[in-house]
Amino acid sequence: MELRLYDTLSREKRTFVPLDANNVRMYVCGPTVYDFAHIGNARPVIVFDVLFRLLRHLYGEAHVKYVRNITDVDDKINDRAARDFPGLPLNEAIRKVTEQTGKQFHADVDALGCLRPTVEPRATEHIGEMREIIERLVAGGFAYVAEDHVLFSPQAMNAANSVLPRYGALSNRSLDEMIAGARVDVAPYKKDNTDFVLWKPSKPGEPSWPSPAGIAAQGRPGWHIECSAMAWKHLGEHFDIHGGGIDLVFPHHENEVAQTCCAFHRERMANTWMHNGFLQVEGEKMSKSLGNFITIHELLADWPGEVLRLNMLKTQYRSPIDWTMKSLEESAKTLDDWYRVAADVAPTEPAASVIEPLLDDLNTPQAITALHGLRGDAAALSGSLRLLGFLAESAAQWEGRKQQASGVDAKEVERLIAERTAARSRKDFKESDRIRDLLAAMGVAIKDSKEGTTWEIAR
Ligand code: AMP
Ligand code: ZN
Repeated sequence: MELRLYDTLSREKRTFVPLDANNVRMYVCGPTVYDFAHIGNARPVIVFDVLFRLLRHLYGEAHVKYVRNITDVDDKINDRAARDFPGLPLNEAIRKVTEQTGKQFHADVDALGCLRPTVEPRATEHIGEMREIIERLVAGGFAYVAEDHVLFSPQAMNAANSVLPRYGALSNRSLDEMIAGARVDVAPYKKDNTDFVLWKPSKPGEPSWPSPAGIAAQGRPGWHIECSAMAWKHLGEHFDIHGGGIDLVFPHHENEVAQTCCAFHRERMANTWMHNGFLQVEGEKMSKSLGNFITIHELLADWPGEVLRLNMLKTQYRSPIDWTMKSLEESAKTLDDWYRVAADVAPTEPAASVIEPLLDDLNTPQAITALHGLRGDAAALSGSLRLLGFLAESAAQWEGRKQQASGVDAKEVERLIAERTAARSRKDFKESDRIRDLLAAMGVAIKDSKEGTTWEIAR
């Protein structure tokens, strides 16, 4: 069975052949950490987690390297830092913001059942690599210095007579059209209106580093160069898969390819380019002004993370997804059922009926249909659900957490304690232990004494 993936660059589904089957390499653009991540941001995280798990299944856990960066230099981070910590020097305030939002992001995606990537590089730790790529680009004639900025010239790239790809190939645009369509009020330091920033000067108080290319003033990197630098450092000049949301194809990924290929005289940066479709909420684009902007954090207060995960995977990753309450309720019911049937059953290998659709460009809706068909084979259902990142809890934990979410019901606790006392008096310790565990999973601690059993909410 072979894996086939849709490649944005060639615009077709192709058989995936890794450059090195002992070291399969994938890079996915991660979040800019300035606030709680929204449920749209969860889509690439979940989709590429499924691909990571599938690749590990196919090539072995030790043979897949997944890099997802954290962007921690950005104007939005600076603004938030100045707003939230006005008394602190900006650099310290920025560190506080990125530490806090980075932790929130991890808590969110852990709850969604996503494995941590092999490496999670931070932009601020790769300034040296960025400088080196920029200097190579200047030396190669692809970039130039103007007013303490360094700018990349797509026109220089397309004029070069070499192995390089054509600027615009990934996003299927022609540079001539871009030149014609570009804004007129272009920054004065740009030679051409299609040039983009690799490096820029920092204003006083802003984060800054020694600049490349002989620029005396301190400065900071543009956004696109960060990913070229981090991918290079951790995956090399040329690797297997590069992913992100569809909005990143242009300009972000187009510019990443340009930087990396021109710096290293390569025809390709990644062999397969994958992009997830956008998520909208109840039929509308998600936005703060429409009041339908939902964070992962808020959803996790009402739903177990695995419900959000299943709900996301009911749609194939390239299609747009409409996030609705009705669909969430159905996903919750499905998982309740799967937990009852399969959570406490020792898993066998994942079923071929589930793997096959996944091998076809991650057809998760069809894999989910196959899971429904496995209800009569609890062991295979258990193994298949685990492959997809489900069943992190026992059946009792799952039940208990649902109770906890609805608040502990004292009457129900008393009833369970009475049931347990009855089980103990007939020496059915298996049953009494089961009830104790169930109570523990509900967040209830019990204490036995001569007077009887007392309980409290566990701290
Ligand atoms: P950002 O922090 O905005 O750069 O986004 C982080 C990741 O989330 C990128 O891969 C985006 O393409 C993706 N993303 C942002 N909004 C959505 C959305 N509404 N639906 C799906 N993916 C999204
Ligand atoms: Zn990126």
